[in-house]
Amino acid sequence: MRDLAFVDERYLTGYQIWGAAVMDLAYTPEEEEFRSRLREWLAKALPTLPPKPSPEDWPGRRAYDLGWQRMLYDAGYAHVHWDASPTTRLIFLEETETAGAPYVGAGFVGLLHAGPTIAAEGRARWLPPILRGEEAWCQGFSEPDAGSDLAALRTRARRDGDDYVVSGSKIWTSHAEVADWCELLVRTDTAAPKHRGITWLVLPMSAPGVTVRPLRTLAGSAEFAEVFLDEVRVPVGNRVGEENDGWRVTMVTLSFERGTAFVGEVVACRRVLGELARAARENGCWDDPVLRRRLGRLNAEFRALWRLTQWNVSEAEVSGGVPGVGGSVFKLRYSHARQELYEVAGDVLGVESLDLERPWVIDRLSSLSYTIAAGTSQIQRNIVAERILGLPKGR
Ligand SMILES: Cc1cc2nc3c(=O)[nH]c(=O)nc-3n(C[C@H](O)[C@H](O)[C@H](O)COP(=O)(O)OP(=O)(O)OC[C@H]3O[C@@H](n4cnc5c(N)ncnc54)[C@H](O)[C@@H]3O)c2cc1C
Repeated sequence: MRDLAFVDERYLTGYQIWGAAVMDLAYTPEEEEFRSRLREWLAKALPTLPPKPSPEDWPGRRAYDLGWQRMLYDAGYAHVHWDASPTTRLIFLEETETAGAPYVGAGFVGLLHAGPTIAAEGRARWLPPILRGEEAWCQGFSEPDAGSDLAALRTRARRDGDDYVVSGSKIWTSHAEVADWCELLVRTDTAAPKHRGITWLVLPMSAPGVTVRPLRTLAGSAEFAEVFLDEVRVPVGNRVGEENDGWRVTMVTLSFERGTAFVGEVVACRRVLGELARAARENGCWDDPVLRRRLGRLNAEFRALWRLTQWNVSEAEVSGGVPGVGGSVFKLRYSHARQELYEVAGDVLGVESLDLERPWVIDRLSSLSYTIAAGTSQIQRNIVAERILGLPKGR
């Protein structure tokens, strides 16, 4: 059994504490060697990056984000998200985030969940351009009446020769404006029970009949959109998994989205927390015991989350690379911890946290979306209750 001193037990269930205790994630000499080579490369590569585009310049952001992916590709690191072991991937995310490397950004869907899903389903098409930073993806899952209850989706696809003909609409589609492809869920059998009539398709965003209408968020950014589909033809060869087997494929996608897609962000939050602790010492807030306790509790929380990540990675390592439902525990705790972090930032920095030249305001506002995106906290709690703790299904 491992030493449990690192885990703050208040934040974990009994099962997680047991899991963290049996977790065995020791780094091999090869993994340590990978870490130091990567660190060296980052120190040389990061100063050569072009200036960051403005938050509203989506074509510029796409070029910047995919350009970084291209640099990783040229240096031999692009494969890490997919065919390296989960532990190597964890090291990669830890090191890139610690060094302040660009966020995956417009490459998020392609690299962190569409690509891994396509690979897990044994398909190779579409993968090389994602790796080379040539193409961006978006996710067309949610609909106006199908968010938490995703299986209620109504976008229809009927077979016509070698094509599916798709009509309907999607909402909250992040990066739709700059995406080349969309991982799209459609209903192919309206008579079957709702989870059984769904198919996972790859939609070319340039196809005739696709209309993208941007939506503006609370933070002022048009980062997502409504997508309208009017008799759009999608080749049958663009199907991933079997027809009507899309719900199973969706579970693979969501396990990546909730499992490991946020890993790098935990490292970033720990860095922000360090900055806040330093600022609190400098501006005198540190003398306030209540604030100090909040910072300390957040520190314990992010440390526990990091350990939980390592545990999820250990688990994925033995289950063929696909993260399990433990990703829901992580996502639930992480999204709330992130919100609290930015609330504490307001208390530590005071009016300085409203300085629009610095990212605090945007980060605080966007932290609100974390308990909704990729499945709300209530839904994660249902998953934890039913699929981890084995409690009876809610009505
Ligand atoms: C920033 C952001 C980016 C996003 N990007 C994408 C994207 O790229 N692609 C995509 O497809 N979607 C995307 N989404 C959509 C996201 O997945 C949905 O918003 C989310 O699944 C919730 O669905 P909903 O908004 O329809 O809310 P609803 O499902 O209508 O939920 C409303 C409220 O009811 C609660 N509720 C619903 N059902 C239950 C239940 N069974 N038990 C307990 N409580 C329940 C919910 O927790 C919530 O509080 C994004 C969302 C955000 C915020």
